[in-house]
Amino acid sequence: MLEVVPVSAFKDNYVWTLRNATHAAVVDPGEARPVLDYLAREKLALAAILATHHHADHVGGIPGLLEQARVPVYGPKGEPIATLTHPVAEGDTVRVPELGVALSVLDIPGHTRAHIAYYGVESLFCGDTLFACGCGRLFEGTAEQMYKSLEKLRALPDDTRVYCGHEYTLANIRFARAVDPDNAALAAREERARRQREAGLPTLPSTLGEERATNPFLRCAEPVVVESANKYLGARIADPVSVFAAIREWKNRF
Ligand SMILES: [Zn+2]
Repeated sequence: MLEVVPVSAFKDNYVWTLRNATHAAVVDPGEARPVLDYLAREKLALAAILATHHHADHVGGIPGLLEQARVPVYGPKGEPIATLTHPVAEGDTVRVPELGVALSVLDIPGHTRAHIAYYGVESLFCGDTLFACGCGRLFEGTAEQMYKSLEKLRALPDDTRVYCGHEYTLANIRFARAVDPDNAALAAREERARRQREAGLPTLPSTLGEERATNPFLRCAEPVVVESANKYLGARIADPVSVFAAIREWKNRF
């Protein structure tokens, strides 16, 4: 049976590990050591490595993993990752036969110029683009690109499990409550996330339905979010890309 488990790396990164009884594939291994320790402890053979974007805290562990196992390395065609054996882009499918898994590749630029997501088995591995109750910073792309990427993810089914790259949920919720103060689903989410963190548990995965109900970056057409963006800017704007750009900038200063 396929399971997805988090292996922690650095301070708040997750290396999402798809596994069955014998094999594993890892998404965004920023560090090799915790992954190698997990594989050894669970007696799993590494079958594949998947990267969402080129940042070191997502790909830095790949050389160390390849020293132990020569496996295929998938990642974005348009980014400089020296260890890729299979550069991919939207329209491609990544198959891991050892796990019986097939994942579709989606292009979601914005955080980086060619960031990709992997979607399949009712799960979305979205790196630093969509976060639980937040979204990634715009390092290489424009607000318009990021908005379109988030809209693409927003269109996936409600029960899609969202596996993102970092445990940023509580800080993201604090900002979301400033943007969307009367959202009851958001207040309930904060309570739940706080209990999970107090118990030492990840707040992930979330679901896309939950993100649509509470994540301000997926709610740029909601009147309350438009109103908050206008208050922040001291202006009158309504188009969703400008609203997105305003709350993304606000979050940077929050
Ligand atoms: Zn990143």
